[in-house]
This record gives sequence, C-alpha cells and structure tokens, in this order.
Amino acid sequence: MDALRGVEFVTSVADLSTLPPEQGAEVAFAGRSNAGKSSALNALTQRQRMAFVSKTPGRTQLINFFRVGADGFLVDLPGYGYAAVPDATRAKWESLVGGYLRTRECLRGVLLIMDARHPMKPLDYRFIEWLRPAGIPLHVLLSKCDKLSKAEAASTLQAVSAILNHEYDHCSVQLFSSLRKIGIVEAAAKIQEWLGRPDIKKPPVKGE
Ligand code: GDP
Repeated sequence: MDALRGVEFVTSVADLSTLPPEQGAEVAFAGRSNAGKSSALNALTQRQRMAFVSKTPGRTQLINFFRVGADGFLVDLPGYGYAAVPDATRAKWESLVGGYLRTRECLRGVLLIMDARHPMKPLDYRFIEWLRPAGIPLHVLLSKCDKLSKAEAASTLQAVSAILNHEYDHCSVQLFSSLRKIGIVEAAAKIQEWLGRPDIKKPPVKGE
C-alpha cells in the first residue's frame, strides 16, 4: 500500500487532443459527484490534505493525471450526475470521458466509487456500459460504508455483487470507508495488480 504514497500531479486535460502520451499503466477513478471519489483517492494515497478536490471550480470537468512510481498513473475522471448542468456541459463530459475510455490503451482498470447507501443508480449502469466494448476491468468501491450497520453493509455488498456479476464479466466489488479506513488494503492491492505490481502484498485470505 505504501507504494501508492507520493503521487505527483502531472497534468489536467479538458479535451482528448491534449491527453498525455500513452506510457506505463493507468488506473482511472470514476463516480457520481459526491460519491466519495476525492476522499477515496486521498485515503488510498495517504494524502493528509485534499490533493484531489473534485469541487474546485474549473477542475470538475477535467481529467487529472497523477504519477505513482516510475510508470504508473492514477487518473481522476470528472464526476457525473451533477444536478442542473447545462446540456452542453453534459455532452462535453460524455465526449471527454467516453473518448478516454474508448481509446486509452494503457488503461488497465477503473475504480468506480458508489455511495453504499445509493448504489447502482441509472448513471452508474450507463457508465458501466461504456466499459463493455473494450472489456475494461471494473472494481467497485461501496463508499461511506461507515454510515451503514454491519448487517446493512453486508447485505448491500451481496446485492451489488450479485447485480454486477450478472451485468458485467470483468468486475469485483468491496466495502470502503475513507473516514474509517475500511477496505484500503484491498483496494490498494487491486490498483497495484492493475499497475502491474503483483509483488505488493494482497490482503490475507481467511483461513490462510
Ligand atoms: P466526490 O465528489 O465523489 O469527490 O466526493 P468527496 O470525496 O468530496 O465526498 C463527498 C462527501 O462525502 C464529503 O462531505 C465527504 O466528507 C463525505 N465522505 C467521503 N468519504 C466518506 C466516508 O468514507 N465516510 C463518510 N461518513 N463520509 C464520507
């Protein structure tokens, strides 16, 4: 997990023509606005301050690239589902994020953040549809799980897991809380695996 420390901001892009050259491996973070994406990025990279601030005016519609290690990149995709955004803004989001997902060959996987209290909303389904043509691996973080009781969290995990397994071949799902630091090791291991660093320790499997 320590390997995700020390991320460095590389660049922000507002349109596809200025994407950085493809190099190394990329893992993208996506989710509805307010789902907890920035908090998850901060928790996973052990940033104390809000390095990833989705609500900064002007940054909300950009793709932000952060380097991790020599040849890994975390890619913060603009959130979706903002209330009352003009049609033109939505269209621009679709072409930017859709274009990135369709064309980016060094993209190894997408972490999709969903508020555990409101998972699998229509826009989440729609987003997953975009991953389908290229079969991009998906890992869902059911965020803010500290807001659910243990029993509620367990049944949400089971329900979302069943839906996702039915919906999409290349997916996995876990509970996550940035606040209570739940699920950090599991999520970090998935990122490391995608970045091509399988040597990083996975969380222990029960019974081992
Ligand atoms: P983003 O818009 O997806 O980047 O969401 P943010 O990370 O900015 O979080 C949205 C809101 O949810 C903020 O008020 C956060 O403090 C809160 N939040 C994020 N993660 C957690 C969490 O793990 N637990 C709790 N209780 N609140 C969280």
